[in-house]
Amino acid sequence: MTDEREPDDLESVEVLEVAAPPRDLVEAVTAALSRRVSVPCRIRSVPEAFQIPHIPGRNQADADRLLSAVEALGPPVGHVLVALTAEDIGHPIFTHFFGRARHHGSAAVVSVARLDPTFYGLPEDRNRTVLRTVLEIVHEMGHLAGIGHCDDWSCIMRFASTVDAIDNRGQRFCPACAAALPPGFAPSHAPCPPDPEP
Ligand SMILES: [Zn+2]
Ligand SMILES: [Zn+2]
Repeated sequence: MTDEREPDDLESVEVLEVAAPPRDLVEAVTAALSRRVSVPCRIRSVPEAFQIPHIPGRNQADADRLLSAVEALGPPVGHVLVALTAEDIGHPIFTHFFGRARHHGSAAVVSVARLDPTFYGLPEDRNRTVLRTVLEIVHEMGHLAGIGHCDDWSCIMRFASTVDAIDNRGQRFCPACAAALPPGFAPSHAPCPPDPEP
């Protein structure tokens, strides 16, 4: 599914709370995201009537149907919606996703559930959860900008199916992927103080 947006017209990113993680985490993620993109990032509440589609028989939201439902909220041209949820997201065939987005789409879905070290029985590590979440959002925004997966381990567009892979791939776009980014996505090359190196 594509629309007619030009790739260079990004004006803002709206972080949509959908069965959201705690508010302070959402705020920390949004603040950190603001330092990685060159457009304003805001928190937005989901409409009251919004329903999260679930996979029958599983305690998981259906990632693709959720993405379609978020897209149906119709972000105006130039505005990207990133639905941030505490719910685990999956697909009837695949076990889980960290995030979902369509190339040149207007919305992305990112789940914090499996980005949180406590999911794996590890001690809480708020900084790591925030960093992983921001990196996953930036990765999905790369797809929204029309960029596919990249083989370069130093690149944030490298596919990751585990949190270890997220921690081990680069945190920035490689030169080739960066060259394909529209201006609004232009990542800051300034250090991001609250982001610990993995
Ligand atoms: Zn991807
Ligand atoms: Zn790349």
